Amino acid sequence: MQVEEVLLYSKAGPVARITMNRPEKRNAQNLRMLELLSHAVARAGNDPEVRVIVLSGAGACFSAGHDLAENANDPEVSRLRSAVETRVELERRLYWQPAIDLRDVGKPTIAQVHSHCIAAGLMLAAMCDLVVASDDAVFSDPVARMGAAGVELPVELWTFGAKRAKEILLTGRIVDAKTAFDWGFLNRLVTRDRLEAEVDELANEIAAMPPEAVRLTKLSINRSLDIMGMTASFEQHFDIHQVAHATDESRRLLEERRQAGDVRKYVSKRDAR
Ligand code: ZN
Repeated sequence: MQVEEVLLYSKAGPVARITMNRPEKRNAQNLRMLELLSHAVARAGNDPEVRVIVLSGAGACFSAGHDLAENANDPEVSRLRSAVETRVELERRLYWQPAIDLRDVGKPTIAQVHSHCIAAGLMLAAMCDLVVASDDAVFSDPVARMGAAGVELPVELWTFGAKRAKEILLTGRIVDAKTAFDWGFLNRLVTRDRLEAEVDELANEIAAMPPEAVRLTKLSINRSLDIMGMTASFEQHFDIHQVAHATDESRRLLEERRQAGDVRKYVSKRDAR
């Protein structure tokens, strides 16, 4: 069943599939998609028939991140982003919350990743309990290049460890699927034609387990991560991220991007420098 065109929701037996559906925009997450994501996760969480939730992207890739063009071009979004108070509230509601909802929902989540999984795309994939990717998948968080301090949640630290997180974030470089697998980010690395079938197999294997035991097991691991400081680390980073949005440097880079009119054009011009 279709919830809304930019985010699809469907059910096959015990598996709910949530699909980012802006293929013409490389599944760039706009505000509508993120609003619907929280609803879709809650819906799957509350549906007693659903045992496992799969997050994927329609079309050529998983997700290229937040929709920066919408941020730049939509006057209402620009207004909300222009003052610290409203930007913090906006990012808390639309960037922080859906990611946290994915982590905390009482059912296992699997990210099914192909091709680009960039910035906020990586953030959502990292918040899923398991990640299955095809060998064409690529991962990066290049937002430091735009003057921000990584995406809203410091998922790289928690998924890759400090040294690798620093390398990824301080260079903005791309990590290929084989490397991501070697680094322990991926539970399975498969060919593109096997991706969906592999995810279905894994999802159904988990769905056959006693759901309450599964829920409590996930809760225990997430609580242990919190004892290690995961949510506190997220909180401090979110504040740092907001400071980074407000620096003169990031405002200047944003203005350059705005004047370029087109994010892709801006990025290629910047990289040429
Ligand atoms: Zn932000």
